[in-house]
Amino acid sequence: MAIREILIYPDDLLAQVAMPVADPASDEIKALVQDMADTMYNAPGVGLAAPQIGVSLRVAITDTDWRSGRYDEIDEDKKVAPERNLKVWINPEFLWHSDALQTFEEGCLSVPEIYEDIERPAAVRLRWYDLQGVQHEKDFEDFLAVALQHEFDHLDGKLFVDYLSPLKRKMIRKKLVKFYKK
Ligand SMILES: [Zn+2]
Repeated sequence: MAIREILIYPDDLLAQVAMPVADPASDEIKALVQDMADTMYNAPGVGLAAPQIGVSLRVAITDTDWRSGRYDEIDEDKKVAPERNLKVWINPEFLWHSDALQTFEEGCLSVPEIYEDIERPAAVRLRWYDLQGVQHEKDFEDFLAVALQHEFDHLDGKLFVDYLSPLKRKMIRKKLVKFYKK
């Protein structure tokens, strides 16, 4: 169990395509997910992908329930919300995207203090593995659909700033280099 360092954009590791997990039920993946959860809740954030802590594997976690107005209740000493609903996504694969789009203001632990409106499909069908190695298939919509698309973009080396204009991306890059890469 450990809080790991979160890589900040621009970082070459954030731009890599991550490798599939060979054995989702392995102790190695359980330990990785534990570190990712410690890191995400500590930040605090509602999602984290393994490449964000420098591990190039197709693993992501989310806790979008935790986001729902619970920041007020976070104990500042522990930075732990009262309830957690951690979801683990291993080797996720979208089987379908809706034609209908929705726009949410997105942020990212790897792109601190930057928030931008991003348009994405409003609903998705996903296939993934859990920590027991069991495969699942389910449809998602609303904020969770956004969060999943955002997290799984990380597994393909893509960040939400890649949807912005080159000029806007350049400004963000400059700002982050100035404040975080000293
Ligand atoms: Zn992100």
